[in-house]
Amino acid sequence: MPLNVDISGLREAVCRMGAESVDVGTIVNLTTTPSLPIDIELGTGIKVDLSEVKTDNGLLSYQGRQILLYIQDHGDRIQEVLENEDEGNKFHIAYCRTLEDMQSQGRFERYVATNDLTGNFFITGFDGGNGAEREGGAYLKVCKNCLTKLNYQGYYDKHEARFQIFTDFDLEKFFCAYSSFFPHMPSRRAGAFDGQYTQDWREIAMLYKESKNFICEGCGVRLEDHRRLLHVHHINGVKTDNRQQNLKALCADCHRRQPRHGHMYASHEDMKQITALRRQQNLINLNSWEDVFKFADPGVHGVLHHLQHHHPELPEIGYEVKNDGGAVVAELELAWPSRSWGIAILPADIKKAETAGWRVTPVHEAVDMQATLL
Ligand SMILES: [Zn+2]
Ligand SMILES: [Zn+2]
Ligand SMILES: [Zn+2]
Repeated sequence: MPLNVDISGLREAVCRMGAESVDVGTIVNLTTTPSLPIDIELGTGIKVDLSEVKTDNGLLSYQGRQILLYIQDHGDRIQEVLENEDEGNKFHIAYCRTLEDMQSQGRFERYVATNDLTGNFFITGFDGGNGAEREGGAYLKVCKNCLTKLNYQGYYDKHEARFQIFTDFDLEKFFCAYSSFFPHMPSRRAGAFDGQYTQDWREIAMLYKESKNFICEGCGVRLEDHRRLLHVHHINGVKTDNRQQNLKALCADCHRRQPRHGHMYASHEDMKQITALRRQQNLINLNSWEDVFKFADPGVHGVLHHLQHHHPELPEIGYEVKNDGGAVVAELELAWPSRSWGIAILPADIKKAETAGWRVTPVHEAVDMQATLL
């Protein structure tokens, strides 16, 4: 029976595919591919050298994988922290002011890199009385400077919502929001695969998609030629409840925006494909900021929150930059064609658009509050 496999690999497979699109045959193929040593190591945490940590679009990365950093050693404070996790060291999700300071002080080597998204951090220290070594797990909190740096969920601009954004911070959701920035997804994650499908799910899902003519019931994008990008979602979350009224055909992007689907990843390629099809099919009608948030990659939402506060003009989404011959040379996440200005994620897009005469701001610079966007 194919489901009788190592659950960690299965989780990863489900994450990459978008849970409900996975069929039994696919699971077998993906789980026989072993995780790379680097993924296993990052799951438990690696002490990293500063020179090895890269910043991609303001986020932290290690060998192409998105990571977070924290100081494992809590010294003689460990007992206090194990009793009250709010007192623990904050973990970092971006190259924030704190890390910049630490780096300039040469203290960076004390950090541990991990992509374990359970939120339960392994911490160490010693007993202040007898000096005995202590260790344990603690649910540490996110660094507020990181939230500011990324303007995560509008943290910087929405003063009144800051406390809520901080306390509700969820690692799984965070990594998923930026999944299109990284080629590799984390291998250890919290409760992503919590349901079982019925044996006939593959067939039911196929028939259901067919009955909807391979059109997303969320945004209306037609995916008959890109069926991989169309999932079948269980509205009540019960994956064995296959009644027609409990099913919904959703594109990978609409699907991950459903409640309790913060764990669902979408690659940059998939997002680009869906956006391009929506544009071709005239489905992107931007009349308000709400519309812009709906259609834009969640990875640029930090920029959007900032723009919304300061910029009256709505951007275009997934704008295709063409050369003199009319061929598409680059795609911009956000663009203001009248100003020949755009914001992009991938360095290749930035370079090519600039060659075609555009001014392009990388997303991390655009979100940086020091940068003048206007
Ligand atoms: Zn930070
Ligand atoms: Zn859709
Ligand atoms: Zn679903």
